[in-house]
Amino acid sequence: MSFLSSKIKRILSTLSNLPRGISLIWNAGKIWVIGQFFLMVVRGVLPAALIYLTKLFVDSVIETIRTPNQEQITEVIWLGISFAVLTILYEILGGVNSLILTAQKENLTDHVFELIHKKAAKTDLAFYEQPEVFNHLHRARAQARSRPAELSAQLGSILQNSVTLISMGIVLLRFGLWLPVVLFISTLPTLFVVVYSTSRLHAWQRKKTQDERESWYYDQLLTTGDSAAEIRLFGIGPYFRRKFVAIRKKLRIQQLRLGFRQRLLEFGASLFALVLAGGVFVWIVSQTIKGLGTVGDLALFYQAFNQGQGLMRTFLGDIGRLYSNSLFLSDLFEYLDLEPKVVSPKRPLSTPNDLEQGIALEKVTFNYHGSKEDVLKDFDLFIPAKKTVAVVGPNGAGKSTLIKLICRFYDPEAGSIKFDGTDLRDLSLSELRGLITVLFQAPFKYNTSAGENIALGDISRPSDQKGIETAAYEAGADEIIAEFGAGYEQMLGKRFSDGRELSGGEWQRIALARAFFRQSPIILLDEPTSSMDPWAEADWLKKFLKMAKDKTVVVITHRFTTASQADLIYVMEDGKIVETGSHNELLENDGRYASSWREQMAKYALNE
Ligand code: ADP
Repeated sequence: MSFLSSKIKRILSTLSNLPRGISLIWNAGKIWVIGQFFLMVVRGVLPAALIYLTKLFVDSVIETIRTPNQEQITEVIWLGISFAVLTILYEILGGVNSLILTAQKENLTDHVFELIHKKAAKTDLAFYEQPEVFNHLHRARAQARSRPAELSAQLGSILQNSVTLISMGIVLLRFGLWLPVVLFISTLPTLFVVVYSTSRLHAWQRKKTQDERESWYYDQLLTTGDSAAEIRLFGIGPYFRRKFVAIRKKLRIQQLRLGFRQRLLEFGASLFALVLAGGVFVWIVSQTIKGLGTVGDLALFYQAFNQGQGLMRTFLGDIGRLYSNSLFLSDLFEYLDLEPKVVSPKRPLSTPNDLEQGIALEKVTFNYHGSKEDVLKDFDLFIPAKKTVAVVGPNGAGKSTLIKLICRFYDPEAGSIKFDGTDLRDLSLSELRGLITVLFQAPFKYNTSAGENIALGDISRPSDQKGIETAAYEAGADEIIAEFGAGYEQMLGKRFSDGRELSGGEWQRIALARAFFRQSPIILLDEPTSSMDPWAEADWLKKFLKMAKDKTVVVITHRFTTASQADLIYVMEDGKIVETGSHNELLENDGRYASSWREQMAKYALNE
């Protein structure tokens, strides 16, 4: 009993998604909903009207055979014409309806895309590091795009079929109240099968998300350019193919098992309905033979009951599918309901146009989602305004994490980060980010034109060609672009036709130009020259320092030649600052920095 009540509770809670689903459909295009509603009602009444006309027609034909006269013949003709007109009308309205459904589906898909895209742009970066939430997004994207459209089609179909069923029920009432009741009972097992199978299918879909994502990942490894070189060199294509095949096989078997069970249940439900229909039919034939009804009545009954049963099955099937779509909609809604934690305050303080004092990290403790170890603990650091600060240290020391915290991609667990004494959490997020430009360690390769690649740094002035060229010059990207026949119009990357692939160092310079185009007072560079050779680096550095004179710059670097140019150098190790000073001071100290500097210089000397 408690099992049943928990099932019913679950069904009800799932159906509670329906009002939100309906409002989604309504908001996506009101005019289509109204059009659909009108058509469904009209199309709903027509089948019953046609069946009634059939009865009148059959009775009238039999009457004409019995007593042929002009009046009878005219009646038969008019009934035939009315039947033809209504049938044609039903077909025409069906065509219009499917057009409306197509338009509505497209509208709805775009609307759901818009909601997902808007949400994705706002979600915390931490979101992308949590597989369980990622599974959610996967389901929302894979299923929810089509589900609302299906929901809308089903609601329409349910409405139309209810109107038809009620009118059929009224037609059948002339044989007694019990007939519509038998009709209803005969289709109940179908409802059970649909709801049961749908719940199982959805549970399976949830369970298989991880596997499915894994198989997509292998598919991607096998088919995209990024991994093509390694796949060939290491000969690991067949290895990933086997992994892909194993997952697909597992999923296929599970799906077939589910399908088999569902078909078996459906067969049972159909058999039940058939037996009842047969019983009722025997009854009506015997009534007609006894002379208690006309042949027209028999035709009416046969059509109404037969069609009614089919309709009832479709109707219940739609209810089941409605339930199924509500289940899948819950994935979409759960995703849309994810609340980002890193948000602007209700009443943000005013953001300065530039820094006067500097950026301070005070007693900052931070760890990434799901990891127990703190990357930073009680961490203090000061970056003076309008100076160039270098942060050096081994991999995993926490240098990139500093940049992510200054951009407020994450909030610290404890402590605070302040711009000129104001906590970042008190500033508007977009204004804060407007102050900053970043060149990330692995800059993104936009498959757009070279000019657009740079202009994306500040989308508010996309056609500032002079600004784009200046940024390219400052980043040392101008020489690369000059070699393209199409110049700034050259499409980059290999994704689209006429695209041109660049080397890692060349992409880095384009990204640097993008960062410079932003013209913001704070510049954060994470290994800006890692893909450049030392000569290219020296050349770039000269230009950069000239340009960055009045800016606050943080450079994370492995290259001591880069770090040595900074006003202040922090040496970081294992989440802590272990040395601080200018290049000369650190050399004098003769600590870690000095020994690493000597090591690197010796290596360069050797290479030359
Ligand atoms: P660095 O830039 O000095 O090489 P990072 O700041 O990238 O170091 O990383 C510091 C530590 O945080 C490392 O131990 C790394 O494994 C961990 N880490 C970095 N990014 C993430 C992340 N997105 N999720 C979980 N751990 C991370």
